[in-house]
Amino acid sequence: MNKIIFGEHIVKSFGEGDEQRNVLDGVSVEINEGEFVSVMGPSGSGKSTLMFALSGTDCVTSGKVLFEGEDLSAVSENELSDIRRNKIGFVFQQPTMLKNLNIIDNIILPSMRDNRKNVVKISEKARNLMKRVGIAELENRDITQVSGGQLQRAGICRAIMNNPKIIFGDEPTGALNSKSAEEIMDIFSDITAEGTAVMLVTHDAKVAARTERIMFMRDGKIVSELKLPKFDGKNIENRVEEVTVKMR
Ligand code: ADP
Ligand code: MG
Repeated sequence: MNKIIFGEHIVKSFGEGDEQRNVLDGVSVEINEGEFVSVMGPSGSGKSTLMFALSGTDCVTSGKVLFEGEDLSAVSENELSDIRRNKIGFVFQQPTMLKNLNIIDNIILPSMRDNRKNVVKISEKARNLMKRVGIAELENRDITQVSGGQLQRAGICRAIMNNPKIIFGDEPTGALNSKSAEEIMDIFSDITAEGTAVMLVTHDAKVAARTERIMFMRDGKIVSELKLPKFDGKNIENRVEEVTVKMR
């Protein structure tokens, strides 16, 4: 299995002097190609900070993060933004979309930065992705005219436009009803089947139960981990139960 991310003894502190606090307190994480993982833990335990560290969004105070073997704190500014743009996708609770652009233009916007000439190809790719996630008919819709679930699908399309190695999702289903949330999880599951790793931060045991490995954080540390077989559509209740027991 190819290792995509290797975080080794990551410390991230905020504040100075007496106020200094390790929000990540020696976290080690590995994420392999196509792996579907999640991070759970109480609010303030460091989940988002971990995601920002692993994605090179924020530098770490000590320890290191290797992305496909490259030390993110040692690469040049250009290489880092290259990796972040072409190899990493992000999905947040509320997709940040530009209100004056329609759905498809929002999806292709980040890809246009590098390939201005290929607009036809890029649009075609976007249409294929939109079809796959069930929003093909919405391409010219204003972003204010679609549901939260549809907007999140568009956010996922935007995140996978460049065939990233990994997608980070911070509470990607947090604003959705449970049916939409399940459909979004189906999409993530398909994405991992194609070899893209997905790491989700979630409060929801039902969401975490769909993944294959759940890391539990507390006070800036990963305190335990639960491995589950790949979800085959059956016995979600048992998986949720396992997650819930481990959470306590
Ligand atoms: P979670 O996502 O698990 O809710 P976070 O990773 O967002 O937690 O935050 C963990 C802790 O780090 C919180 O106590 C938060 O206040 C603190 N924190 C996060 N970012 C900053 C920052 N930029 N400056 C100072 N403190 C921060
Ligand atoms: Mg958070």
